Amino acid sequence: MAAAPLFHLVDPYGIDRSLLDDLCALTTKVRLLAKSPDGARFLLGLLPDRRAMLYFVQPSTRTFLSFNNACHILGIRTSEIRDASTSSEVKGESFEDSIRTFSSYVDVIIMRTPEAGQAARAAALMNRIPRPVPIINAGSGRDHHPTQALLDIYTLERSFEDRGGIDGKVIGMMGDLRRGRTVRSLCHLMQNYRGVRLVFIAPPQFAMGDDVKAHLRAQGIPFVDDARLADVIGDLDALYVTRMQSEWDTAGETSQVNYADYSITPDNIGRLKSGAAIMHPLPRGPEIHPSCDDDPRAVYWRQERNGMWMRVAILLKIFQADRLVHEFDLDAVN
Ligand code: ASP
Repeated sequence: MAAAPLFHLVDPYGIDRSLLDDLCALTTKVRLLAKSPDGARFLLGLLPDRRAMLYFVQPSTRTFLSFNNACHILGIRTSEIRDASTSSEVKGESFEDSIRTFSSYVDVIIMRTPEAGQAARAAALMNRIPRPVPIINAGSGRDHHPTQALLDIYTLERSFEDRGGIDGKVIGMMGDLRRGRTVRSLCHLMQNYRGVRLVFIAPPQFAMGDDVKAHLRAQGIPFVDDARLADVIGDLDALYVTRMQSEWDTAGETSQVNYADYSITPDNIGRLKSGAAIMHPLPRGPEIHPSCDDDPRAVYWRQERNGMWMRVAILLKIFQADRLVHEFDLDAVN
């Protein structure tokens, strides 16, 4: 069954399995198409009449660059604001007026803000005005990062493609789970998979938030809350490592953490299952030793590149150009 159309993408709540499967299939198709000059030209001709605003007023490397390049792959032209001090917000213009102004010039707003809930606020505004444009949340404070969660799902599915996909897997999440928005969004998507078990490995002060745990309980998704890496490492099918989000510290909380308990190093990597996937949304701190990068289980660089292809798929879906890609015969360009 085809997934329903997508307009705003502000949180992971309404994302169902048919949309996930559709986006993953589309991502694979785009990735394969882009390998050939004919396929790349086909993609470039899909949305040349569309314009995107990249409003990123919180630091970003991967999300900004992958969305920017995803737009360019589809022929979408881009404008950007990367620092609120260069927008009329410094003259006192309200957030709502700024967003409405962007919407006067472009067909989609992709936004990252330090405050939680801003993408939802922008989407609510769009729903009240005569010419609404879609809002894509590219990271909103400490609450959500739904497009990262989608590329994480794609990376997990690819890692387990010969083993039945994500269903039935044991997925560890390690690091700063309280303040890390990627793991929060990813947990919400897990309700779409059967038999998944989650294992949280975090310093007590950075344990997964109660709101996410309540959601998991309500959805009947089993989780272990305060596991020690050394005790569980051999049981995991995937280990999603995150950095300590020190930018949110108010009294040096991160400096209290003993990284040895929350790191993958040459000393413990060998205890992971041979087919396990080590993931990280990046940027990394000391929690993954660079010498682990060559291990076949380390998929975080592939995960980073998957992000660009998944963001192409998201834009195709939002602009309802996905059918053209699904129908395109890959054999015609290979
Ligand atoms: N890049 C991810 C984010 O924007 C992860 C991180 O910063 O730790 O949330």
